[in-house]
Amino acid sequence: MTRPIRLEIDLAAIRHNYQHSRQQAPGARAYAVIKADAYGHGALEVAQALADIADGFALLNLEDALRLRRAGIQQPMTLLEGAFDLEDTVRMAENRIAGAVHSPHQIAWLEQLQSDLPFEAWLKVNSGMNRLGFQPEAAPAAMDRLRAHPAVKLSTIMTHFATADDARGVAGQWEKFEPLARASGLAISAANSAATFRHAHTHGDAVRPGITLYGCSPFDDVNGPELGLKPGMTLSADIIAVQHIQPGEIVGYGATFQAERPMRIGIVACGYADGYPRVVPSGTPVLVDGKLSGTVGRVSMDMLVVDLSALPEAGIGSHVTLWGQGLPIETIARAAGTLGYELMCAISTRVPRHYL
Ligand code: PLP
Repeated sequence: MTRPIRLEIDLAAIRHNYQHSRQQAPGARAYAVIKADAYGHGALEVAQALADIADGFALLNLEDALRLRRAGIQQPMTLLEGAFDLEDTVRMAENRIAGAVHSPHQIAWLEQLQSDLPFEAWLKVNSGMNRLGFQPEAAPAAMDRLRAHPAVKLSTIMTHFATADDARGVAGQWEKFEPLARASGLAISAANSAATFRHAHTHGDAVRPGITLYGCSPFDDVNGPELGLKPGMTLSADIIAVQHIQPGEIVGYGATFQAERPMRIGIVACGYADGYPRVVPSGTPVLVDGKLSGTVGRVSMDMLVVDLSALPEAGIGSHVTLWGQGLPIETIARAAGTLGYELMCAISTRVPRHYL
């Protein structure tokens, strides 16, 4: 028998989430963001599941995009950081893969491009996040250079928001970007998931939802199910041993937990090497055969411990949901002081994936 841990990925839920996200921006195309192996869900599997409904896909690595092309995915694709050299630029043009153009380096490669098929450029503007993109003042000259080159088709002007998910919203960034975007006459793309759900005035022509496709909320004040989303992944493992402990006894490395009463505890086949965060405190919620309980002591590399004291039916072989169906990933992310994004992307390759 293989070690009893599994990651179930619900492709029907991801389809639902894509459609639900797109419905927030009815006038725009929705590029499904499937970078980072579709936030840990499998880029190819997710692209295939969305192939007949998605307007396009946004990725990071050219190799990933080419893998999708080889698998027969025909939809428009765009690379959010664009090309990393001239060779990428050529391969992107040949394979109809668009890309961000965020720096003069990339324009220099494009100016050397000789290709029968044009390179589709998304000019990226730094409207205030200060990561990638041309300053608004520099953008018109960049556009002129791109328009002057016959092997380039400048289709889109894009930006990315730093705080669309919190109370600060998109103010400041949108005001810098919008006039430039409108004057360019290009398709406009600005909205991530948070802006897709809460800042309708930024929808433009193409939104780029990522996290909501996987059922997780970008906001602090609501979780995914409350936004009408379904969990894309469920991480679960079985109990492989049971211990009875007495008051005063400790559990796990560092003896961070000491029993105050007699307890029955279950040892679960999931640890931080699987991607469950080590930093969560005792009492972080789990579902044991669907019933709420909590972790006990520190998470170790291959195991974690749960309280079975109030669950007399539970024992070896009981099924423990760590997050997903019935237990929003946001709850665990909060306990770990991080975001659902990071938990999803951190599931290790040793966890078997099962697609539903
Ligand atoms: N657009 C860009 C440029 C991104 O970098 C990302 C993700 O970081 C997204 C869209 C999708 O963001 P989210 O997952 O918050 O919807």
